Amino acid sequence: MRTGNVINRRVLLTAGGLTLLAGCSAPVQRVTSTAQTRPMPEHHGGHQGAGRPGTGTGTGTGTRTGTGTGTRTGTGTSKGKGTGEGTGHGMSGPNPATGTGHASDPGGGGNNKPVYYVADGPKAIALTIDDGPNASYTPQVLRLLEKHRVTATFSMIGMQVAAEPAIAREVAAAGHVISNHTWRHLDLAWLSPTAAIAEMDRATDAIHRATGQTPTVFRAPYGAWSAAVLRRCQQTGMTPLDWSVDPRDWARPGVSAIVANILRNTRTGSIILEHDGGGNRAETVAALGIVIPRLLDAGYHFVTI
Ligand SMILES: [Zn+2]
Repeated sequence: MRTGNVINRRVLLTAGGLTLLAGCSAPVQRVTSTAQTRPMPEHHGGHQGAGRPGTGTGTGTGTRTGTGTGTRTGTGTSKGKGTGEGTGHGMSGPNPATGTGHASDPGGGGNNKPVYYVADGPKAIALTIDDGPNASYTPQVLRLLEKHRVTATFSMIGMQVAAEPAIAREVAAAGHVISNHTWRHLDLAWLSPTAAIAEMDRATDAIHRATGQTPTVFRAPYGAWSAAVLRRCQQTGMTPLDWSVDPRDWARPGVSAIVANILRNTRTGSIILEHDGGGNRAETVAALGIVIPRLLDAGYHFVTI
């Protein structure tokens, strides 16, 4: 498992008078809580200045800054699109930092900023599978990965790990990385720091109980990071993992749309977001069966974080 060699970068979009942290959508929350009663879910727009313009409109100009940790020169600007289409948003555009391979943070202790790209040489990409484990879809994804000899990172929801510990163990035994994806998949930015940390820690406990492993990677639901969450990541040695390619498979846009989106947006360093939980993921499984060999044929290789 690598914890170094990562690139952090944020894309800020200014659109409609709102400053948004550009990003991509995440599945609709499935767990009821007071944190989810806000009228505008994160993937439908911004909140607290850190929303993701999933359905945004307009053509905001994005300023990309390679705000990585440690030593790197990955800065630059690029156009961001707030079109709300697929992974537009500027998240998947050319990344100067990755493209020039300047990112390097070996042991820099850089787990206080979200990671959007991997930096493991030319054609290195990462596949992340979120919101499992799921009794139906996780085994299907595992079989696909095994068939193509690909390693992925599974962002698991703690309460589902507790419900399906054998599947979590199977994922770990197959050599994949299990990332903490909180206990209930709430939007942590809407929780108190204490409550957010409790969500994180409880998932770590569940993953450890099921697999014997303590997660070293953390992914915030909806990519909603907060200072408290990032601080907890640092305290607990978890790399905060975001993503750069989001085909919005959770919205079930169709297998060909998922495939096309990934192929169009993936480049060296991309972290691809897919889901094995949160609903019917048949499209995701079918899309992975197509897109993994296509990416391998294109010369990419999969790394874990
Ligand atoms: Zn998720």
